Parts: sequence; C-alpha cells; structure tokens
Amino acid sequence: MRQVELTGIKNFECREVEQPAIGPGQAKIAVKAIGICGSDIHAYYGEHPFMDFPIVLGHECTGIIEEISGENTKLKKGDRVVLRPQRVCGACKPCRAGRYNICEKLEVLGCQCPGGASDYYVADEDLFYRLPDNVGFDEGTLIEPLAVAVHAVKRAFREVEGKNILVLGAGTIGNLVAQSVKGMGARKVMITDISDFRLDLAKQCGIGHTVNISRQELAEEIEKVFGKDGIDAVYECTANEAALNQALFLSPKGIPIVVAGVFAGMPHINLANVQDREYTLLGTLMYVEEDYMESIDLVKQGKICLKRLITQKFGLDRMADAFRYIEQNQDRVQKVVLDI
Ligand SMILES: [Zn+2]
Ligand SMILES: [Zn+2]
Repeated sequence: MRQVELTGIKNFECREVEQPAIGPGQAKIAVKAIGICGSDIHAYYGEHPFMDFPIVLGHECTGIIEEISGENTKLKKGDRVVLRPQRVCGACKPCRAGRYNICEKLEVLGCQCPGGASDYYVADEDLFYRLPDNVGFDEGTLIEPLAVAVHAVKRAFREVEGKNILVLGAGTIGNLVAQSVKGMGARKVMITDISDFRLDLAKQCGIGHTVNISRQELAEEIEKVFGKDGIDAVYECTANEAALNQALFLSPKGIPIVVAGVFAGMPHINLANVQDREYTLLGTLMYVEEDYMESIDLVKQGKICLKRLITQKFGLDRMADAFRYIEQNQDRVQKVVLDI
C-alpha cells in the first residue's frame, strides 16, 4: 500500500509498504480522507515543539472498516468511521479522573506516532466512531477539530443555552467553536478576524455577527450587538497576544476566557486585569469520547456546516502540493483535505 511520510522540513516521501496487520482489540480501515491541520503545518516547517521527523501525518482521518474482530458489538466490516487519534496510558492521575485528554503520556496518532496518511490504517477499535449517513468522508475529517471545539466550549459551561459568546479568530477551530455554541443554543454569537475571507465563511456557516478588527472597533460592535448585558464568555482561537489582551481589556468582569489558540513562545498578557476583574482563564486540549459523541450528534442534527470549510482537495500522492498550496494561499484557505 502507499504511505506518505514527512521525512524532514518540507519534504514528503510516498512509498510502498506492507499493509499493517491488526492485533487484539484493533481494527483496520481503508482510509478515505485526511484533513490537514495547523499542527501539521507546524510540523511541515519543523516548528512543532512536540513532533519529530520522520512522521506519518493524518490525525483527522476517516475510512471504511476493512477488518475488525467479530466480538465488536458497535462496529462491523464496511462501516464508515472517523478516528479519535488519542493514545493514553489509563493509569496517570488525569487518566484516573477521566481527563485522559491531558494524559501524562498522551500520544496523538499522526503527531507522536503514525497517523492515517496511507491506503490502510490500524488503530485500537475503540478509537473509531461511525459517521452519520449525512456526512461524507471529506467533511467527516472535520469531526476531529469539531470535538476540539466542543471540548473548548464545555470548559466554560455545562449549559451554553441563552449565553452571549464572543469568539476571537475565524480559523477552523474558531469557526467550529462559534458553530458549536450556536448549535448548543447560545443566544448571540460574534466572531472576529482580520480576514474577510474567513469571516465570510463564518457567515455562510450561519454565524450572525462578524467583526473585522482591522477596520471595525470591537468594543463598539460588542455594545451594538449584545447591549448592556454584554458577553458571557470569550473563546480565544487566534493564538495572538494582542487578541488575548484585547479580550482582557474589553470583557465584562468575572467571565470565563477560554484559551484554545496554540501559542508559540511566551506572550505578555495583562494578568493585572485577570486578578482585578476575577476572570477565569481556562486552557483546553483535545477532547474526550463524550465530546466526539456530541460532535457527531450536532452534525447528525444538521446543526454544523462542515462542507463549506473545505476549500481545496488533493490526492494522497499530492501531499507535498497540498502543503505548498496552503503555504501560498494563506488568505484563501480554510481546510484542505486529501482524498484517498
Ligand atoms: Zn487537527
Ligand atoms: Zn494517562
């Protein structure tokens, strides 16, 4: 079968390898689609702090079950599935508390161990979830980032219903956070960015209030849209120091601010306001199974638009072209998917 490996900075090798064999408790899929994510791009430039070469990418992965033990009651050969790319120890303190998304020994498939960028792929069978019939393989790759968004949303609230939400950043995660809170019943949702392209996409996905902070005054827009009640939470999805500081400057007292952006280096942030205004700063990482189930459910109910987010597709053997395309079209790219 074909397998594509990132062997060094901006260098992919596509080669023929043996098909993987399943072990006990595992399933083999015929891979159908792989999504390319921000962390893959960091790896491509050799700038990902927790990824090394060589690596087979592909943590956003869908396919068809090819082989699975007959004892599995949830899945069978021929089922269309999406991967939850987490390998955890099950024994550390976070794992014992059910928070295995922050396992001390967490390995992400496609980041610290091989992912799905190949014709066939084997993983533990409990990491595969059936795709709803109304979701294609391409869109299905977005269930993984959607679960990231759903987990982020839940860090601040059990119930989002009736809340006013501000999302900073309309990249894939920001877009999906905005769609998730809306799907879960938020009252009003506003999303910001500096790119009209990304804000237009958010609009097409049903996000009512978009603000281009390069030419609009965010404080004014917040007042216009949310009135005197203001916002109930902020989701920081830009990984930008200035954006986070803007949230710490504009937000009403006492609200949660969830940091979903993956910051590089050490930003200078206004901790005086965090203290004085009793903000709750919350980190968020990946997801647990419940977030996957909820994501799949939201999509099944038609509450999330995934298709619009896919702006380009390539074949598996054009992985290098796909990354070059992203590099050269940063302002016109949301999600790029590889069809296999
Ligand atoms: Zn991802
Ligand atoms: Zn653990």
